[in-house]
Amino acid sequence: MNGGCTTYVARTIIEKIMDDYAIIGYPRLVRLNPNVPWKTRGNGALCLQVGKTRGNKRQKIGMIDGQEISCSPDRSLELSESQQENLARIVKETVETQARVDDENTNPGYVLLQEKPPLDFYWKVVTTVVNLDEVINLLHKHRAVYEGYKNKRGLIGATAAICWEPGDWTYELITYRPRQRWGTKRHVDARSVQHMDAKYPNTFDNYDIENHHNRIVPASPCPILYGIRGDSPDELVMASEQVKSEPIESWLVFVTNQGTDDHLQRKSIDQIKPYESVIVQGTVVEPPFTIQGGHVLFRIQDRTGIIDCAAYEPTKGFRKSIRKLSEGDIVEAYGGVREHPLTINLEKINVKQLVPLTIKVENPVCPTCGKHMKSKGTNQGYKCRNCGTSSSEPVLQEKKRSITPGFYEVPICARRHLSKPLKRMMKQSAVAAIGTSDTP
Ligand SMILES: [Zn+2]
Repeated sequence: MNGGCTTYVARTIIEKIMDDYAIIGYPRLVRLNPNVPWKTRGNGALCLQVGKTRGNKRQKIGMIDGQEISCSPDRSLELSESQQENLARIVKETVETQARVDDENTNPGYVLLQEKPPLDFYWKVVTTVVNLDEVINLLHKHRAVYEGYKNKRGLIGATAAICWEPGDWTYELITYRPRQRWGTKRHVDARSVQHMDAKYPNTFDNYDIENHHNRIVPASPCPILYGIRGDSPDELVMASEQVKSEPIESWLVFVTNQGTDDHLQRKSIDQIKPYESVIVQGTVVEPPFTIQGGHVLFRIQDRTGIIDCAAYEPTKGFRKSIRKLSEGDIVEAYGGVREHPLTINLEKINVKQLVPLTIKVENPVCPTCGKHMKSKGTNQGYKCRNCGTSSSEPVLQEKKRSITPGFYEVPICARRHLSKPLKRMMKQSAVAAIGTSDTP
């Protein structure tokens, strides 16, 4: 499914089917290419795996109207034909009544498939711009039941969400408001969110202290009260118990590709295309400067070309670090590519090597007389007044750089859903040394 507040559509479908079907694994919230020009906000799709009956081993994944929702880990439970038809009817009815078909940027769609199309299709949709014909061909080939509304582009995300097999993954616990509160001001206590953030180290992107931004609360008038992201579903449940808020109507834990950097592709500058997201290494050839609106720009070069990089005004304090770069520094830029002019919109940067910077401390000393020479004028060198000896170089001293090598990221208030926070990157490099856990 894709479009509108898609997670709420999934929540409603779960409510309708939970007595007659098994939910297999966690529902999936899959974010797609954040740079496609016609995207809905957040560009996400939802996927539910549904089986015949409940298995024995069950895992709690949420609560709807006081009733516990569980999923089964068993993936081998096939639906009968009448169960499939019934399920298709429920999905169609829910998407048509709940997806915001009237919203001009929303293009809902749903897809039912008995087998997973290749994982490649997910990678294509999260990293590039895919055309509709390609997905329709794929759906025919796999005998899908599907329906696309308006420009039908929702089918692309919905199909990609089915194809996704988590390589890296995170979870999000989403809470929903009772219907009568939708569209009204949300009450979520900011201080309790800060406490929760400090107490549960496996959660991320909760609260931006520097910019006073409570990131778990959405800005749109959707049914969501808040969403907490993290690496451990059990910890998310405990974390949400710490958050003081208005009453919650229901909650669900989703497995997601948020915070994984799945959208980024390592490229050389000549391979960079608009609407994609890249990791590219280059040398700073034009140092950072600030333009009107507070945006900071600089230019990098590799053996294949030159490209502009930008830290836009909403990236706030991140710009302070960017302004400290100098010509000759080697950096790895991470970000989405805008078309006119071709620019990398920075999500983070890895400063790999800093050039030594020098400052003039005094005029050169005459080797014969031992006295300081005098300047002959701007860029014209120095001359000894006593004996006439000339020199072009003043006495220089290495200047301490105000930035150190390493990663810098935009603040939480400017973070994209797919961007991997440094907090996760650091933890993963530690875990990689010990071994990894099972896929969800
Ligand atoms: Zn002299």
